[in-house]
Amino acid sequence: MIDIHSHVPTHRHEVPADELVVNEKWRPDRAVAATTTWTDYESAFADVEISVCFTIARDRKQVDSALNDRVAEFVAAAPARRLGFLSVHPEVPGALDEVERARLDLGLVGIKLGPNYQVFDPLGDAALQLYAYAQTHGLPMLFHQGASPVREAPLRYAHPLVMDEIAIRFPELRVVMAHMGHPWQRDTIVTIRKHPHVYADISALFYRPWSFYEGLRLATEWGALDKLLFGSDFPIATPAETAAGLRSVNEPIAGTALPAVPLDAIEAIVNRDPLPLLGLAHPGGG
Ligand SMILES: [Zn+2]
Repeated sequence: MIDIHSHVPTHRHEVPADELVVNEKWRPDRAVAATTTWTDYESAFADVEISVCFTIARDRKQVDSALNDRVAEFVAAAPARRLGFLSVHPEVPGALDEVERARLDLGLVGIKLGPNYQVFDPLGDAALQLYAYAQTHGLPMLFHQGASPVREAPLRYAHPLVMDEIAIRFPELRVVMAHMGHPWQRDTIVTIRKHPHVYADISALFYRPWSFYEGLRLATEWGALDKLLFGSDFPIATPAETAAGLRSVNEPIAGTALPAVPLDAIEAIVNRDPLPLLGLAHPGGG
């Protein structure tokens, strides 16, 4: 199992009580500790062969190089099992220099962006320059897509149809659209089916069982199941929970005549190796 979507722990060691953050809105079924430790991550990923991990640069005034350093440090603790993606705010001064540093000096192999959380226009000049750099240097990009409960995060910056325009302009760029663009799964599916290098991850979806089932059925009917990648969005969910949720995707239609998501396609998502699809080598050369 390879997890394409996980968040680097907020803390190396135990989280001090006054720094503990619990999020009530991420999942409808339970609260989630947003603060995590290296040990939390290690135990959640014990059965995961390789994981891609990152965080997101929210500073809108200056480059946050400490953030990329933190990702590289975490990857270095298990270099055969982790790949790190860098993050920058595309509009801050020196953004591309930081990308270059994170790629060459830190060995980070992709870019994570959340245009809504970071509040930048995903089709603006600075963003387009970043995509051009990523395409030239073979850095895959993972974009947060779709809903977020953050009030200040503009939803239209995370709408999946924006990715269609990016993919038209940068046809060699490798892209992962997170969360199948929830709740705009259909807009994500029509985007990934037409662009050979654009994929979607299934992270953070299983706990909304109807829209998860519907999204995977749409992917079945539109022939896009082979463009779906396994991801947990840890700490929102663990990889094991996500695999179990995926294997239960047909539960909402039990006892009905509604069509199922094919079981072999579900196993194919769990077992898919996304690294070659994104132009990434296996860490440690394996
Ligand atoms: Zn995430």
